[in-house]
Amino acid sequence: MSDVPNARGGASLVLRPETPHGRVYEHVRCGGLTEVTEGDFTHICNPFRPCIETFCCQCSRHVPLNEVNWADTQEVVSAYRKRLRRATPMLIKLWRYGLGVLGGGFLEWE
Ligand SMILES: [Zn+2]
Repeated sequence: MSDVPNARGGASLVLRPETPHGRVYEHVRCGGLTEVTEGDFTHICNPFRPCIETFCCQCSRHVPLNEVNWADTQEVVSAYRKRLRRATPMLIKLWRYGLGVLGGGFLEWE
């Protein structure tokens, strides 16, 4: 994670077809922008991995996910994770929660 300049109002969106490796979120209480990258990025984007807080570079502390918005879409990060969970088919959910082995075992048993 790193500091990025506060570019509110001055940023232009660039559409990139490749998979992103990071994203910037804004802590609504302080207006600070923090870029999340690599492992932290995949963690915060995976709605099946426990995550209730993230780091705000401006505050230099962890803040609740419902206090940060993605800077590009303004979507609250906790709402984003809920939306991804809802959009995931049940079998994938079971697999993501680590129960795929259970399901596979059940199928073999039949
Ligand atoms: Zn902050």
